[in-house]
Amino acid sequence: MNEGVVIIGGGIGGLCAALALERAGLRARVFEGGEGLRAEGGALLMWSNAMRVLGWLGVAEAVSRAGAVVVGGAIRDSQGGLLARGDIGRLGQQLGAPTVCVPRRALLEILAGALAPGSIVFGARCEGVSQVGERAVAIFEGGRQVGGDAVIGADGLRSAVRAAVLGERAPEYVGQTVWVGVARRAGIALEDGVATASVGLGLRFWSVCLGPEQVYWYATLKSPEGQREESAKAEKAALLERFEGWGGPIPALLAATRARDIVRTDSFDRPPAERWSSGRIGLVGDAAHPMTPDIGQGGCQAIESAWHLAWCLRRDPENVERALLAYAWDRWPRASEVAAMSRAVATQGDVDAPLMCQARDAMLRATPEALLEMPLRHVLTLPPTMVPPTEAPWQRGQS
Ligand SMILES: Cc1cc2nc3c(=O)[nH]c(=O)nc-3n(C[C@H](O)[C@H](O)[C@H](O)COP(=O)(O)OP(=O)(O)OC[C@H]3O[C@@H](n4cnc5c(N)ncnc54)[C@H](O)[C@@H]3O)c2cc1C
Repeated sequence: MNEGVVIIGGGIGGLCAALALERAGLRARVFEGGEGLRAEGGALLMWSNAMRVLGWLGVAEAVSRAGAVVVGGAIRDSQGGLLARGDIGRLGQQLGAPTVCVPRRALLEILAGALAPGSIVFGARCEGVSQVGERAVAIFEGGRQVGGDAVIGADGLRSAVRAAVLGERAPEYVGQTVWVGVARRAGIALEDGVATASVGLGLRFWSVCLGPEQVYWYATLKSPEGQREESAKAEKAALLERFEGWGGPIPALLAATRARDIVRTDSFDRPPAERWSSGRIGLVGDAAHPMTPDIGQGGCQAIESAWHLAWCLRRDPENVERALLAYAWDRWPRASEVAAMSRAVATQGDVDAPLMCQARDAMLRATPEALLEMPLRHVLTLPPTMVPPTEAPWQRGQS
């Protein structure tokens, strides 16, 4: 490789890909369409699988410091009755890294700050890509062209690079709308370090402390696409009404959130793509494998994919096309499986028939913790294709 890699999009996927490539001794530049890092949407769970990779990238400690470690999980009914519990702290110990809830902005700033100075170009909106001989070229608004050994689309759910590689196709609405917010914690009784999901009739609420002062929450509702209240204030009022009478801290958390800090978005994913690259043009993160937010793995999978992309390019620098095919070959089954699990959780969460909800609650109450933990453990365990730094050639000092 001579010119390095051109990455389109400065989200989690793009920044991690650039960092992993840098760590692998390869040159990478990130071209972000926005004028700065795009961090709307409160916070994120960085599960153990992602935290392990962030550790390999040398930023896990900073991420832990910026967020709050999650040690437990609980599922409750709408009245606050306990349905199930999980020991996320023990899982993290067994898997080699904790799970951390971190503000989105902090995560992006840590990743961007770890890159070599000048690696990110803002205000660069990619409109197309092409391949000319041994060069991949990104074409930006205004006609500017930037070439490299590869162009990687890390430009999210509605990726322009993906459209060029796979053809235009709209993402699929999964029938659920999502609100996220950060509440002031003052005086609200909450279990520290416990991520709590509360489930009702087609409505769910999920919360976790983001530190001593703040609580990150997230609510979903089965809903037609595109519905919005006329203002942020009305959106908050409607949410308060929907969750009126729910047990535990939920109404208090909604009341303690400023209307302007509530972000509403609809939930989309896509069926697994048949390929993730065309020649020297590849995809990473949501551009390759978008998934619903229901198990908090979209960003985590972007981080796994970013690491593996760099590893494949480092291992096979003379044949970029083959490296991109190998990357997709390894990552496709894992990312597709996690996306399918995420969609399944979204579908279960949308159940709104009272009898079905009662059956769900009874099933959760009766299921032993070890059994409930199995799918989570599976998702949080890095696949064998992920090569830790001790085995990566760049860490062994080979060139
Ligand atoms: C409500 C919600 C909660 C979530 N919670 C979690 C969670 O707890 N844990 C988790 O791991 N994941 C979570 N996710 C998923 C996670 O947010 C995404 O999977 C992750 O952000 C994907 O990162 P990305 O870099 O691939 O894409 P994005 O974050 O979408 O970043 C893409 C970047 O590309 C830029 N861009 C777009 N088009 C262009 C262009 N043409 N040219 C240049 N730049 C462009 C954008 O401005 C953006 O900065 C959640 C998602 C939602 C919606």
